[in-house]
Amino acid sequence: MKKISIIGTGYVGLVTGVSLAALGNSVVCVGRQESKAKDINHGKSPYYEPGLDSLIKDMVKKKRLTATTDFDMAVANSDITILAVGTPTINNKIDLTAIKEATRQIANVLKNKKIYHVVAVKSTVVPGATENIVKPLLPSGVGLCMNPEFLREGNAVEDALHPDRIVIGQLNEKSGRVFSEIYKKNTCPKIFTSLKTAELIKYTSNALFAALISFSNEIARISQKTGVDVVNVWDAVHLDNRLAPVVNGKRIRPGFISYLYSGPGFGGSCFPKDTKAFRAYAQSIGENAQVIDSVIKINDSQPLQTIALLQKELKSLKGKKIAVLGFSFKPDTDDIRESPALTIISELIRLKAHVIAHDPVAKLPDGTIFKQVTVAPSVSKALEKADGVIVVTSWQDYKKLTPDDFKSKMKQAIVVDARRIYDKNTFVKAGIRYSGIGYENEN
Ligand code: NAD
Repeated sequence: MKKISIIGTGYVGLVTGVSLAALGNSVVCVGRQESKAKDINHGKSPYYEPGLDSLIKDMVKKKRLTATTDFDMAVANSDITILAVGTPTINNKIDLTAIKEATRQIANVLKNKKIYHVVAVKSTVVPGATENIVKPLLPSGVGLCMNPEFLREGNAVEDALHPDRIVIGQLNEKSGRVFSEIYKKNTCPKIFTSLKTAELIKYTSNALFAALISFSNEIARISQKTGVDVVNVWDAVHLDNRLAPVVNGKRIRPGFISYLYSGPGFGGSCFPKDTKAFRAYAQSIGENAQVIDSVIKINDSQPLQTIALLQKELKSLKGKKIAVLGFSFKPDTDDIRESPALTIISELIRLKAHVIAHDPVAKLPDGTIFKQVTVAPSVSKALEKADGVIVVTSWQDYKKLTPDDFKSKMKQAIVVDARRIYDKNTFVKAGIRYSGIGYENEN
């Protein structure tokens, strides 16, 4: 059992903390807000994430997990400190301010500590940052690792408890050996690398999935202009044995296939900022990063494809009542960071539509634009007398909606299905004016 302090109680810090506690370690999560620490110590998650509340409760009860705002005490009383602070982008470049500040504070505590201590960077940072920015701030003799995180929000607890692999970038053999003890109970492959290899693995992984999404969306645009439904294209392409092999008569569908679908573009706290930071990093070393650049450009304009479909049906959106279903960037999370729904809503407001929006869990951000949105308490209230609806997030509750749910409530049953979650033929037959990403109603 290792004593671990985790700096940052965001989505990654907290999920990492609770899962490391579940693996038998003693974990203290360090945040800045007293109220958040209090919630965690009372067994309550500050975020919506399936399974997180109950695991926090369990770990707090077993006294393996606590939360505090006392940074110095937490670091002093642990063997390993994990950095899980935010690494946003400013002007499309990574901003390492939080990493530097937290490292300086860790260093201040460790300079008086005699026992061997390992600092591990879990935040996503550009290649070279751990070695060139974090290491020089730490006292000599402190162990250093870079341990990228691959969890997916919405499935974060499961991903953190049962990762497909654990990547440990190590400054030296001792750092990696001591740090990897926290994952002793995980049986998945553990890959020991240099610090910058670990950093590059994380960016490559995110850039790959983002590229699959933008590629799918480029195909959606081409399909639409060709008068073809992109769903028919993907259904056939996905059956290729090279993508989904048949083993013992059963087709094995690898997880990446789910990124090869067309939609309103990627959002969330990772792909948008990480692709931009990665492009800036590549450019800083003299590489153009043309693929990543195109991935970002396609994604930036993708949410607006839904508005164009709506305009095709309604012409002017001025004064029209438009329902938007879903604010979170994907289902099973309340995270709205860089959600395509926010771009869609802002554009609808700019076009002077009356927006009434719903999400089962997420909340809209503050700000003058979003104050103009009416938030509906239920789907049926959102759809009431609406001239059109854009279904942005594929929440299970929305997938269950039938043509009649739309027809019985809306003034005009115009449905733009940004995630292609409905069966087009059923909707068209039922008299819905149906279109979606990669399919334009031709009548
Ligand atoms: P987040 O913004 O939700 O959380 C970061 C937290 O760190 C915030 O609560 C902030 O207050 C806190 N913090 C910053 N400086 C601090 C300090 N000195 N002391 C105490 N707390 C401090 O971010 P996140 O989504 O948890 O992501 C964290 C990192 O992990 C990022 O680098 C991100 O790219 C990476 N990552 C995120 C995901 C994801 O799905 N969210 C997945 C993999 C990797």
